[in-house]
Amino acid sequence: MSPQYCEVALPVPLRSTFTYEIPQRLAESVCAGSRVLVPFRNRAMVGVVLDTAARRPDPARIKQIREIVEALDPVPALPPKLLELGGWVSNYYVAPIGEVLRAMLPPQIDLRHEREYVLTDAGRAWRAELDAASNRSESEIAELALLSLLEIEGRPVRADRLRKLPGGEAAAERLLRRKQLESREVAIHRQARVQRIVAWNVTYSAAGGPANDAQGAPPLPEKELRVFHILAEERGPLPLPQLAKLAKVSRPLVERMIREEKLHCWEEPLPVEEDFFDADYTPPSNILNEDQQRELGVIREWLATGQFATGLLYGVTGSGKTEVYLGAVEAALARNKTALILVPEIALTLWVGRLCRARFGAGVAVLHSALPEVERAREWWRVRRGDARVVVGTRSAVFAPVENPGLIVVDEEQEGSYKQEETPRYHGRDVAVVRAKLEGAVAILGSATPSLESYHNAGLGKYQLLHLDSRVENRPLARVEVVDLREDFRTTHRASPVSSRLEEGLRERLEQGTQALILINRRGYSWFVLCRSCGAAVQCENCSISLAYHKQRQRLECHYCGYSRRVPEACPKCNSEHVYFFGAGAEQLEEKLREKFPNAKVARLDRDSVRTKKAYQQVLGDFATGKIDMLVGTQMVAKGHDFQGVTLVGVIAADAQLSLPDFRAAERTFQLLTQVAGRAGRGRLPGEVLVETYSPEHYAIQLAVRQDYLSFFEKEVQFRRLLHYPPFTALASVLVRDTKIENAIRWSRQLSGFLAPYESRGVKVMGPAAAPLARLKREYRFQFLLKAPKRAQLTRALSELLGFAEQKEIPQKAVLVDVDPLNLF
Ligand code: ADP
Ligand code: ZN
Ligand code: ZN
Repeated sequence: MSPQYCEVALPVPLRSTFTYEIPQRLAESVCAGSRVLVPFRNRAMVGVVLDTAARRPDPARIKQIREIVEALDPVPALPPKLLELGGWVSNYYVAPIGEVLRAMLPPQIDLRHEREYVLTDAGRAWRAELDAASNRSESEIAELALLSLLEIEGRPVRADRLRKLPGGEAAAERLLRRKQLESREVAIHRQARVQRIVAWNVTYSAAGGPANDAQGAPPLPEKELRVFHILAEERGPLPLPQLAKLAKVSRPLVERMIREEKLHCWEEPLPVEEDFFDADYTPPSNILNEDQQRELGVIREWLATGQFATGLLYGVTGSGKTEVYLGAVEAALARNKTALILVPEIALTLWVGRLCRARFGAGVAVLHSALPEVERAREWWRVRRGDARVVVGTRSAVFAPVENPGLIVVDEEQEGSYKQEETPRYHGRDVAVVRAKLEGAVAILGSATPSLESYHNAGLGKYQLLHLDSRVENRPLARVEVVDLREDFRTTHRASPVSSRLEEGLRERLEQGTQALILINRRGYSWFVLCRSCGAAVQCENCSISLAYHKQRQRLECHYCGYSRRVPEACPKCNSEHVYFFGAGAEQLEEKLREKFPNAKVARLDRDSVRTKKAYQQVLGDFATGKIDMLVGTQMVAKGHDFQGVTLVGVIAADAQLSLPDFRAAERTFQLLTQVAGRAGRGRLPGEVLVETYSPEHYAIQLAVRQDYLSFFEKEVQFRRLLHYPPFTALASVLVRDTKIENAIRWSRQLSGFLAPYESRGVKVMGPAAAPLARLKREYRFQFLLKAPKRAQLTRALSELLGFAEQKEIPQKAVLVDVDPLNLF
């Protein structure tokens, strides 16, 4: 007998799954991994089938079982291995399985959700009563109109239609409350997208059109003649917009010709748009050097065994790691396997995608969150069907539905962007390794500054270490110099974001005609606004953070919640006029550079100066081709890019991160500086890096200057061991938040009481304490940190904690669990 029941995971923040009945007509098309449309409360939802069964579940446990409405996939969207991976993610990150699976699915483009209203018996009675009444209030008139429409239609009516009636919205609310109306959500299939194709009508020609002017038909006007030439002589049938463009005629003219039957017209499904990569791109044809060949050889051997292995490819910046990845992909494809390459940001997907396309042809898919949904869905299904065998993407591409992957690459594995900062809060690198293990694949994690966790794992033998020791063609690493800002102030007596040493360096490059990159980690003009009379910083209304001044827009803005206000003329607290702006941001730096170097071409790249992807690529493109002399940028430009003409990199306020209350502050500073240094001297010209700081003696800065990763690792790892931080302990953060501080405190107390006994079971609980960012987006935030020497203890405590919160009816969104948190704010 075929299965009649199934367990479905729904995208709701609940940690349970739901049982549904499979109607006979769908018996063939429902199996584990398929997406199904089901009723849930009064909504229609898309869920994923986890499991099917022939027996009715215990009626004592489940009272009412509803039926699946529709099966959405001819082939299950999620293959078995991905379901298994989803289960792991759900368990490890203590995240609801439905929300995990939703993150794995393609965007839902074929279904649209709509709310509709249904008349109840009470509603019918109320209509009759209103109808008979001799005088009616304004709101009753609105209600009557609404009810009458429903009655006349005789079937459910879409909510937006009823709301458009005068007073409709409020009337609907009242009727719903009085149960005279019911609302429910339905899913509606979207029409497949079609395009109109036009062709010349041969019968028209025969009846005396231009093809047959001997019969004396009036000659076609010039524009129509052009249409005729293109359709009948040059090209054949064409999509309507394309024809209009080619023939240089308006669309209404083409429409008229269709009506006059000079043209035929029909609809065809929209073809997939091909090729958003440049077709004429030729990748560099590098001959692998000895180091690259040796390490690629090792990876090939792993691939040959067909067994799980993880390699940590530690290679200095510019050592040619990309070539090793591509060689490994080639080797995986040759074994009839597929490959996945993860990169830390969207711009790099385009770059690496293009390299792969040039090398492996059309079977390359690119997946990232900034793609329009339609395109992302199309790429996703291309992968699922097996048409694309190489996938390049950002974090979520770790869930790409490739079958039988042989290789998973994680480039710049130390990057924080691999961690998702919303549920499910997974780390793309760690999921990549687990996925490789499930699939018997090889994982390659690449970095010039491996995360402490990964290098430690290499030491433990969990990962195998692969080395690229020098830059390609033995280009020297950039020379790094520290500029002590205290010293600079003592000699110049002014605090400027551009020290005299940096200014001198920039002047040299300008004279030489080479380029400079200047990094600053703050947006805006000044990042701090302070009243000198009362000492108060101007803070955000919603967050415990000071507002940044944006000069061009003449606003103070919060970079956390987007709140903005007019620039105050006087202190909002004490009304003093002595309001001052402190701390130079990117906007100010750009201005200062323009002042100092009026002849230089200065540009800025941050979220304020470029708002679209196109503008962003334009600026990067102009910099790459040498049209810009000095580029000011935030972290956005520090990573991965390969600019050949840069000989100087300046880093402003390199120590900005060091003062943050975060145990990873030193590691992040070290990584950033090393990465930045890697941007200089990548071409044939040697590079120099100037690091401006007020704490030149800090070991993170000192060792970054020497580009001495190993010493940094040794030092930092000792410190982590002593203080019981990762990788020596499993860490999780639990944040309790609410707009009402009383709630946040009360819930924190409850959770604290629940967690107390865990101390004796090996879980150290710190907190609750006000989170470093004590208020964010109007919510008050309290934080616990949980540490356990054994992972299983931590997972268990967290899972039980969430169960307790549910039982105490603490709202789901008030308790935020982050396993292996990267960001402790
Ligand atoms: P990274 O290790 O920093 O990721 P890349 O992979 O970006 O380094 O390579 C840096 C540059 O070196 C690129 O321009 C690349 O084309 C070039 N390159 C890589 N391998 C070789 C090689 N064997 N010979 C010459 N140039 C190479
Ligand atoms: Zn004041
Ligand atoms: Zn804010």
